[in-house]
Amino acid sequence: MHVVVCVKQIPDPAVPGALDQVTHTLDRSGKLVMDDSDSYGVEMALQLAGDVDGSEVTLVSMAPGGETSGLRTALAMGAARAILVSDDALSGSDALSTAKALAAAIRRAEPDLVIAATESTDGYTGTLPVQLAELLGMPSVTFAKGVSTDGTTLEVDRQTEAGYDEVRCPLPAVVTVTAGVVEPRYPSFKGIMAAKSKPIDVLSLADLGIDPSDVGVRGARQEIVDVADAEARAGGEIVMDEGDGAARIVAFLEQLKVI
Ligand SMILES: Cc1cc2nc3c(=O)[nH]c(=O)nc-3n(C[C@H](O)[C@H](O)[C@H](O)COP(=O)(O)OP(=O)(O)OC[C@H]3O[C@@H](n4cnc5c(N)ncnc54)[C@H](O)[C@@H]3O)c2cc1C
Repeated sequence: MHVVVCVKQIPDPAVPGALDQVTHTLDRSGKLVMDDSDSYGVEMALQLAGDVDGSEVTLVSMAPGGETSGLRTALAMGAARAILVSDDALSGSDALSTAKALAAAIRRAEPDLVIAATESTDGYTGTLPVQLAELLGMPSVTFAKGVSTDGTTLEVDRQTEAGYDEVRCPLPAVVTVTAGVVEPRYPSFKGIMAAKSKPIDVLSLADLGIDPSDVGVRGARQEIVDVADAEARAGGEIVMDEGDGAARIVAFLEQLKVI
């Protein structure tokens, strides 16, 4: 079974982000790290591959400047190889353009299963994986909190507001996993050393046969017209318990219609 995992490489969340003044998009020019959301997908893929003999895990990412730092982290966890789509003409791509580029790379890899996170932690439209499934012509199962497969059929416990649904679908398919679907491993020292020599195939738009006018700024169907600072959080109210603390908290919660 060939499992492909989408790995988004994002600016380090520990460093305050910067927005481009003209396009209002996130400055992604520096070193990028693996989005924490995708560590669950990588771990899930490694575990599923371990369950089916002869399986392997390939990572797929789209990022500017040939950036591979985040991919190396995922390779250190145990994936066999990676594909990076990187091309100056992709600058300004919206979610659909990103999906088109990733779909073209994934199609070449001929996967049995594609795993992505439910949403990224920087852009988080939460739309990219279902666009991928549509472009690849594969069924899509979202919000997985448990995944198993025999290499032919996918079985998913799909998180709902009330609990979970048990979903079964044939492979190949696209599945999005929630944080907590599995506990991601920490890369070992041996894994980190091995990752340095694992292959990363860097593909341009020409390699993928994608018309540059179909992606990037020219192909984008979304435009960021303005950005504004989030409203500062109002100061909280400290309730001093003078014997009526519980009643005042109940009254507060009733006012919010929580109870
Ligand atoms: C007008 C516009 C211009 C933009 N310009 C740029 C730009 O110039 N440069 C830029 O980097 N971004 C740009 N973006 C943001 C970019 O479109 C999104 O980050 C990207 O499309 C993915 O959307 P998302 O983060 O909302 O993914 P979600 O749908 O929230 O992601 C879900 C999952 O899909 C997978 N995934 C998402 N993106 C990738 C990826 N790139 N590689 C691998 N897996 C992925 C991951 O598993 C992720 O957890 C722009 C957005 C808009 C609207």
